[in-house]
Amino acid sequence: MEFINYQQILYRYGAEGIQEPQPGEQGLFEITDDTQMTLFTAEGLLRARVAQATAPQSSIVGIVHHAYLRWLHTQGEDNPHFANMYGFHNDDGLLIQQFELFKQRSPGLTCTAAMMNPEIGTPQNPLNNSKGCGAVMRSAPVGMIDLGVAPFQLSCEIGAITHGHIDGILPAGVLAVLIQEILAGQDLEEAVQSSLQVLRQQDGSGGLVQRIEEAVGLAHSDLPVQTCYKKLGEGWVGDEALAIAIYCALKSPRDFRQGIILAVNHSGDSDSTGAICGNILGAYLGRSALPQDWLAKLELCQVIAEMGRDLLTAYREDEEWQAKYPGW
Ligand SMILES: [Mg+2]
Repeated sequence: MEFINYQQILYRYGAEGIQEPQPGEQGLFEITDDTQMTLFTAEGLLRARVAQATAPQSSIVGIVHHAYLRWLHTQGEDNPHFANMYGFHNDDGLLIQQFELFKQRSPGLTCTAAMMNPEIGTPQNPLNNSKGCGAVMRSAPVGMIDLGVAPFQLSCEIGAITHGHIDGILPAGVLAVLIQEILAGQDLEEAVQSSLQVLRQQDGSGGLVQRIEEAVGLAHSDLPVQTCYKKLGEGWVGDEALAIAIYCALKSPRDFRQGIILAVNHSGDSDSTGAICGNILGAYLGRSALPQDWLAKLELCQVIAEMGRDLLTAYREDEEWQAKYPGW
């Protein structure tokens, strides 16, 4: 999908565009590189939580970087510079045992190159000048777990492992706050405004603030969707991908299926805008709102659900929260 434009989508799937996931070779709805990396973010964060219990000074970002090295291994590469620290195969953990994750689903070159670097990228010492959406599209788990640190900063630092441009990094921070605010019980509109408030305090955030405000305005307008897409961009870069996902979520706040259909029917990076919109609406509507016929054929569905449950442990112990989000 991300490699065909809107006209080609209409030609292939009909005048309404694509309406259903298309089964792959095994008859399953295949996850994309976005979900693969999101899973490794989740595993890194879960391990960081375990490490914190025994060694409070553990670096969360360092542990997530290690998780991304395992992701790199699944994609057929190993970083020799970290071999002494972790060993070459990085063959521990739940995800590395999932053979499905060893399939290449067009991994982002920025992520692959950054993970081969001898150094770990940080906001202060960026490895490149990339503003691609590879940082934001994997960052939702940061908003799902409480590690005792501000999710915005943590998510930006995790984003900066691979992406150096501020428009690649900041959207990762915004998505984490947005997910956290939603899970804390805010309405979708309120959560977007809360994340904008945090964003406005950051240096160099003016462009992203403007883009998200535009997405909110367009979601409230009657302009045709494809007209809005022309204004919001194509989603290859982080700020555009997040803006498109927020626009689609606000356009369809009660209907997960409809929101995803909206988020994948355009000429740009449609698997990533679909993934991010799915993160937002999934958090907002809860597991019971996900289309059961999609889940039934979803590749690695159980692993994804297990990761989600583990991340949400802190919330799931809260009875009030459970009543509000049945099925998580
Ligand atoms: Mg993509």
